[in-house]
Amino acid sequence: ILDGKVALVTGSTSGIGLGIARSFASAGASVVLNGFGKPEEISDAVDGLQRETGSRVVYSAADMTRPDEIASMVDVALESFSRLDVLVNNAGIFHVGPVDQVPVDKWDAVLAINLSSAFHTIRLALSAMRRQGGGRIINVASALALVGLPLTSAYAAAKHGIVGLTKVVALETAEENITCNAICPGNVWTPLAEAHIAEQVQTQGLSREEVIRNILLAEQPNKRFAMVEEIGALATFLASDAAASITGAALPIDGGWTAH
Ligand code: NAD
Repeated sequence: ILDGKVALVTGSTSGIGLGIARSFASAGASVVLNGFGKPEEISDAVDGLQRETGSRVVYSAADMTRPDEIASMVDVALESFSRLDVLVNNAGIFHVGPVDQVPVDKWDAVLAINLSSAFHTIRLALSAMRRQGGGRIINVASALALVGLPLTSAYAAAKHGIVGLTKVVALETAEENITCNAICPGNVWTPLAEAHIAEQVQTQGLSREEVIRNILLAEQPNKRFAMVEEIGALATFLASDAAASITGAALPIDGGWTAH
């Protein structure tokens, strides 16, 4: 359903971003991957996706804290494929700790990667989308874009912020065949979740099993992690022509977390 489309997915060398990129490529889109990682892992991801799906895949190493590198990444998409139909702002980092103990540089990094990078990609991608007569912007937020949780101040602030950005961009583009939506996952099984578990094991002095059951899935009524394929499927639908009337939405995919 995405034949002939070009998609840029930030933070797509692992986890949810790679899952979304795989879903897009399987649906026929050409894809720009972005994110950090060992060179051999990145070339494996690019080659693997191309082999599996037959779609064209290129890579940009842009750092989402650097507006100049973000501009180069958008250029890579336009120079490689001459268009940009789908922009997914997915790159993100997490930090856990009481608000008065969040290191200032950590706060700045969380806001830069999880929120400001989306401002930059959107600002740079809109002219191409307008020129083409339409486009899709998908921001990967979180259940913590809709509700709070102790010890997540920077992350929840950035994710609540991206929902605000999503609504405003949706309103500003509403008559231009461009949609802008946020996906709000609960717990998804990814390296970020792994890192979160490890961090909590250290800070809370609990076992891995206790952290999973009593902390991570404490708020998630269905008591299971979502798989990246589920996030990829929702993103692919939002990127498709069938989702033309969905804009400005923040869609939970959280096993009921934000239902109570
Ligand atoms: P992950 O750590 O597996 O992947 C994060 C990706 O972002 C990687 O490709 C990494 O290289 C990239 N990245 C990090 N810093 C970057 C930077 N400065 N510049 C460019 N790329 C950078 O994490 P994930 O779990 O797949 O998370 C992806 C998104 O989903 C994030 O926005 C996260 O907040 C959100 N999310 C995750 C979960 C979850 O349970 N895993 C839940 C809700 C929301």
